[in-house]
Amino acid sequence: MRELTSRTLGNVDSHGSRGSTSNDQLRRYNLSTVLRMIHHSSGCSRAELTHRTGLNRSTISDLVAELVDLGLAFEGEPEDTVKRVGRPSLRVFPNPSIAAIAVNLDIDAVTVALVGLGGEVIRRIRFDTVRVPTLPEAVNAVKAIVDGMRGEIEEKYTIIGVGVAVPGLVREADGRVLIAPHLGWKDAGLVGAMTKALHYPIYAGNDASLGAIAENLFGVARGQSNIVYLHGGPGGIGGGLIIDGSALRGTNGYAGELGHTLVNSAGVRCHCGRIGCLETEVNLMRLLERLRLSRADQDDLDIALGVSRDPRVLDEVKRQIDFLSVALSNFVNMFDPEMVVLGGFLGSLLSVGRERLSESVSVSSMGRSGHPVSIERATLSSKLMLVGAAELAFYQLLEDPAGFNRRQT
Ligand SMILES: [Zn+2]
Repeated sequence: MRELTSRTLGNVDSHGSRGSTSNDQLRRYNLSTVLRMIHHSSGCSRAELTHRTGLNRSTISDLVAELVDLGLAFEGEPEDTVKRVGRPSLRVFPNPSIAAIAVNLDIDAVTVALVGLGGEVIRRIRFDTVRVPTLPEAVNAVKAIVDGMRGEIEEKYTIIGVGVAVPGLVREADGRVLIAPHLGWKDAGLVGAMTKALHYPIYAGNDASLGAIAENLFGVARGQSNIVYLHGGPGGIGGGLIIDGSALRGTNGYAGELGHTLVNSAGVRCHCGRIGCLETEVNLMRLLERLRLSRADQDDLDIALGVSRDPRVLDEVKRQIDFLSVALSNFVNMFDPEMVVLGGFLGSLLSVGRERLSESVSVSSMGRSGHPVSIERATLSSKLMLVGAAELAFYQLLEDPAGFNRRQT
C-alpha cells in the first residue's frame, strides 16, 4: 500500500509536456485521477470533473471515454432526476461489477464482503467463530464463504483482488502479519496462505489504518487532510492517522498503534507488557460486564448505555471517558488534526459522553483555545473495515487503470 489518500495532486494538462513518454505518464496520471474521483464520490458530472481537476473539457471527455472503453465507468442519469426541473445532466459512474473481495478478521468472527468500484458493499457474510481463529481456520472460513459466492461472482463480477483487514501489525512490503496479539498470531504468512486458497491477488493491512482511510474517503471525515482515527473493538483499540492527506505509515507500515499509549500509571498490565495502556483502561469488556451484557450483545451497547441509570455503569463510563480524553488530548497536541473520528464502542462512549469528552480534550489541548477540535463518530460502522480493505485491492487499478486492464487480459 502506498498513497491511499483522498487528496489529489495538482493536475497538469497535456500541453506543457514534451515527448511521448511524458505524455503517456500525464495521461496515465490524469486517467487515474479521474477514476479515483468517480470511485470515491460514487459518480460525478463532467462539469464537476473539469472543475475539480482543472483539466479542460475536451481532455475530460477523452478520459471519460477511455474509462468507459475500459469497462471501468459508464454514463447515465442520476436516480433522482425525475424530481428535478430541466434537462438532467449526465453523470459518470464507476462500474460496480468491477469488484473486490474484502475480508475482516476479528477475534470472534470472519466477515467477507463483495465491494463494488464506488465503495458499495454488495454482499456481506459474517461467520461467527466458536473461538479465536487460527490462521488455517481463518483461511478455511474465507475460502468456504468465497466458494459459496463463486456462482454469483462468475456470472456478474470481475474480481480485482482481495483486501484483508487484520487486527495487528502487518508488514507493508509483503503483507506478513508480524504480530496480531488478540488473534494470537505471530509472524503469520497470511498472504501466502490466502493466495493458495483463493487464487486472487491478496493484499493485507492493519484494520484501524484501513478504517481511517475508509472514513476519509467515504465517511464522516471525507475531504479532511488531518485525522486521528481510533477504533475500539472486543480485541482492543487500534489507531490510524491521516496526516497532510496521506496515511501515516512509518518505516514498515506499523505507525498508529495508539491503543498502547500510557494513560494510567496505576492501571493494570497490558498484554504488551506495559502498565495502564489506553486499551486496558478504555475497554469494551469492562463496559459489557457492568451492563451484564455478553460479547454477543455488543450491538445493543448504544441502547444499553443510553438507558442505564445504574451508578456502577455511569461511574465506569465516566472513568473510561476521562482516560480516553487523556489520550485524545495527547494525540491532538501531537498531530493537530482537523477531526478525531471514533469507531466501534468508542463511538458509543462518545454518544453518551460527548460534552464531558470534548470539554476535557479542548481544555488540555494546546493551541486549541476557542477552536475545539471536532470529535465525530465513525459513520460507516460495520461496513468500515470492509470498505477500507477493498480499497487495498482497488489500489493498483486506481493507480494505472489502462495498464491494469492490459495486464489482466
Ligand atoms: Zn499495551
